[in-house]
Amino acid sequence: MPDAQVLLVGAGPGPVDLMTLRAVRAVESAQALLYDALISEEAVALAPAGCVRIQTGKRAGKPSMHQDEINRLMLRLARKGLRVVRLKGGDPSVFGRVGEESAFLREHGVSVEVVPGVTAACAAAAQFGFPLTHRGEARRVVFTTARLEAGKLSADWSAAADPEATFAVYMGGEMAGALCERMIAAGRAPGTPAVAVEQAGGANARICHGTLETLGARLSGHGGPVVIVVGEVAAQAQGAAADEAPIARTA
Ligand code: SAH
Repeated sequence: MPDAQVLLVGAGPGPVDLMTLRAVRAVESAQALLYDALISEEAVALAPAGCVRIQTGKRAGKPSMHQDEINRLMLRLARKGLRVVRLKGGDPSVFGRVGEESAFLREHGVSVEVVPGVTAACAAAAQFGFPLTHRGEARRVVFTTARLEAGKLSADWSAAADPEATFAVYMGGEMAGALCERMIAAGRAPGTPAVAVEQAGGANARICHGTLETLGARLSGHGGPVVIVVGEVAAQAQGAAADEAPIARTA
């Protein structure tokens, strides 16, 4: 029997032309495809006829599958000898649970291959014309999440005081105001440029410009995933996408 294997594949931020060729090939040859809520229909459509397709994220009113349920499902399908592809938004190594899933699979004798993808912050920077690092201005990039396991805002933002660090904040769209306040409280200048980019990479992408002081109030609601980028580099961000509309404006 061939060794059971699972591919943990990054689909990038949405559009299929931002997937790597390796990711496209993996999906095209999948016999079982487990995909997250943020995966586009176009990407799922790359799977061949006859491939088992299972959405693991929130579906039509149903909650997401639990991580242990996903793990067991991948194991069962791989042990059946199917070529299993676990497709995740962005890059699997950035808030993609790749560590947990690989550890579980390897413990159970299943080999794992990871295919990288374009992470949301990089897609946002490319689309709106700003860098994440910039000589003499931004020497570090911190990929961070606003959220702790319990869904609450994480407490320690001391690293945010560093004026040469760019912060790319994932899962922070709903807490943008509180997040910016924490960064100011940690010592970052209130006038530090900050942008929120919704649906980065896609045709419907939108950007909201501000500073640590103003972004929270400007971003009063959103419809898709949002990545927040804080740091001097955000001042280089170009205008809004096609529709010229900020994500949501209150003032
Ligand atoms: N592995 C993914 C991140 C998964 S966590 C990646 O590398 O991009 C989910 C969070 O990612 C969302 O809450 C949002 O903050 C961010 N995100 C994912 N896709 C996005 C997109 N297209 N535009 C903006 N933010 C996105």
